[in-house]
Amino acid sequence: MELKSNVPTGPIEQAWDKHRFDLKLINPANKRKYNIIVVGSGLAGGAAAASLGELGYNVQCFCYQDSPRRAHSIAAQGGINAAKNYHNDGDSIYRLFYDTVKGGDFRAREYNVYRLAQVSVNIIDQCVAQGVPFAREYGGNLDNRSFGGAQVSRTFYARGQTGQQLLLGAYQALERQVGLGTVKMYSRRDMLDLIVINGQARGIVTRNLLDGKIEVHLADAVILATGGYGNVFYLSTNAKGCNATAIWRAYKRGALFANPCFTQIHPTCIPVAGEYQSKLTLMSESLRNDGRIWVPKNAGDKRVPNSIPENERDYYLERRYPSFGNLVPRDIASRAAKAECDAGRGVGPSGLGVYLDFADAIKRLGKHKIEERYGNLFEMYERITGENPYEVPMRIYPASHYTMGGLWVDYNLMSTIPGMFVGGEANFSDHGANRLGASALMQGLADGYFILPYTIGNYLATAKPGPVSADAPEVREALANVTNITNRLLGTKGTRSVDSFHRELGKIVWEYCGMGRNATGLQKALGLIPALREEYWKNVRVLGSNEEFNQSLEKAGRVADFFELAELMCLDALNRNESCGGHFREEYQTPEGEAMRDDDKYTYVAAWEYKGPGQSPALNKEPLEFKYVHPSQRSYK
Ligand SMILES: Cc1cc2nc3c(=O)[nH]c(=O)nc-3n(C[C@H](O)[C@H](O)[C@H](O)COP(=O)(O)OP(=O)(O)OC[C@H]3O[C@@H](n4cnc5c(N)ncnc54)[C@H](O)[C@@H]3O)c2cc1C
Repeated sequence: MELKSNVPTGPIEQAWDKHRFDLKLINPANKRKYNIIVVGSGLAGGAAAASLGELGYNVQCFCYQDSPRRAHSIAAQGGINAAKNYHNDGDSIYRLFYDTVKGGDFRAREYNVYRLAQVSVNIIDQCVAQGVPFAREYGGNLDNRSFGGAQVSRTFYARGQTGQQLLLGAYQALERQVGLGTVKMYSRRDMLDLIVINGQARGIVTRNLLDGKIEVHLADAVILATGGYGNVFYLSTNAKGCNATAIWRAYKRGALFANPCFTQIHPTCIPVAGEYQSKLTLMSESLRNDGRIWVPKNAGDKRVPNSIPENERDYYLERRYPSFGNLVPRDIASRAAKAECDAGRGVGPSGLGVYLDFADAIKRLGKHKIEERYGNLFEMYERITGENPYEVPMRIYPASHYTMGGLWVDYNLMSTIPGMFVGGEANFSDHGANRLGASALMQGLADGYFILPYTIGNYLATAKPGPVSADAPEVREALANVTNITNRLLGTKGTRSVDSFHRELGKIVWEYCGMGRNATGLQKALGLIPALREEYWKNVRVLGSNEEFNQSLEKAGRVADFFELAELMCLDALNRNESCGGHFREEYQTPEGEAMRDDDKYTYVAAWEYKGPGQSPALNKEPLEFKYVHPSQRSYK
């Protein structure tokens, strides 16, 4: 398949402006004649639905929660990047672009990243206008803090609740449109299939989660903004409901899946406490601004942290990376923590932990300042661990957090199925092999507020999708597909719970396709996953019926998709014989243990094409060009 990225040509600084001018417009009076489905009401979907509604389109927006206000974006803590340079510390659009391309280890599209950096500035203005209460400094300007992978402070924040405040902004904009009648909100709906007619995306099939009704919704274009698939690892920082179903089912209808193996492991999560834990909690990266990371110098040192003297502590990030110190990017900080623990210097009952210590910062700035910056995160930590981080260092360990992979999209954020667009974490765009902190919120809002509203109009004006019938054979086939899956899951009546399968799958993916991967492990996983999947379909026990609120059934469908996705992740990781960003193939590392890319062979986006049940997917490659930031060995020393 030919992958047309539709990236504009010419100087990168003018590319988006020129492209916007070239995109066709729809007369305002004609917009209400078009129906657009937006699946997802997080930052990407909520922003897109609100903006398209405001433009005058007829929008139908879907989410599986009881309210769009509960989308997972609400969990984001630390902040959102923007190249405002309020502090005159050397930031610029170009520097944000540069840091993001470098941070992504040269596996992102330059033109997309430049556009992201450009519109980051508008995002902040829009959110302030909506009333998002960003932190302010004495002079009244918005305050900033640093995040990993950057030497400037460009991260805007609202205490440790940035996602919540941003989502409230997008939610208000969305509800305004609901009130005006341009957006119809469908909560508690699970998208279970995509309807493709004459090669164009024309609708979705959903299950009403309250009464099990399978419904068809038709439109002229469909946007998926359904978030990331980090829960494939079972234990992750994502909300329990986060899943891959919408994008996975669209993949099976012809949308290519890009870079599935690129997962971000976040270095600062509360360590796993026991076998039956179902969720991990993130401690925002912003804490690394003031917290210092260390382990005891001697392996097996089990003394309580405050009794270990300074000269017996190893502040290993400050030692190994003197210029970025504790603010190295997440992949580097995560691997360094793992290396310390593997060498026996890990702390806490499991030995899988390192300290994040605020004693110096409290001495320097006072407890009050730390409370002001991170108070809610400290409270959350204490509630979960029973330890007071103002008095003893936090214990942290890496965990699966964010997925850079997702459905392949072109510069217009359109997938390989015409009329189906993908925004936010659900697409693969912009971050390359590693997402720097505070850039997912930026990307989600950029997609929703500032990119999709232009590019969808162009699609509708050029493709001119005509009327569509609910009786079309493709609609009936999609309905039958959903009903079959549901009946199969309910009919298996096995002996093992969905969760027990998910936990076992997660362990395999974490072990063999997590922080470190190698060919032997990946091959092993590619044997274990299909075997477990087979057992799943023979022995899963899904309680209850379809015609009721049934979370066991909801989960069962999602886990079925995770099985298939996990296999694709391992295949993708095995295919990429190099290390880059969050994809660390242990065979490919520098003598200092850093990721070693192979630019000659792997400077491409790996876009996988579904070929049917039981068939191997086909690998398509989108070559990447770096005209502005020349690939070099990433160094944060
Ligand atoms: C704990 C935590 C902290 C984070 N902190 C930060 C941070 O400080 N800065 C930053 O930049 N990023 C942060 N991130 C990442 C960021 O929060 C996410 O990447 C981002 O919010 C994703 O937004 P989204 O709109 O793409 O998806 P989401 O917010 O996940 O929304 C997905 C939407 O899709 C809907 N949906 C999903 N599947 C279906 C389906 N099948 N049918 C119907 N609806 C469906 C859901 O109901 C929901 O409305 C953090 C992530 C976590 C886990």
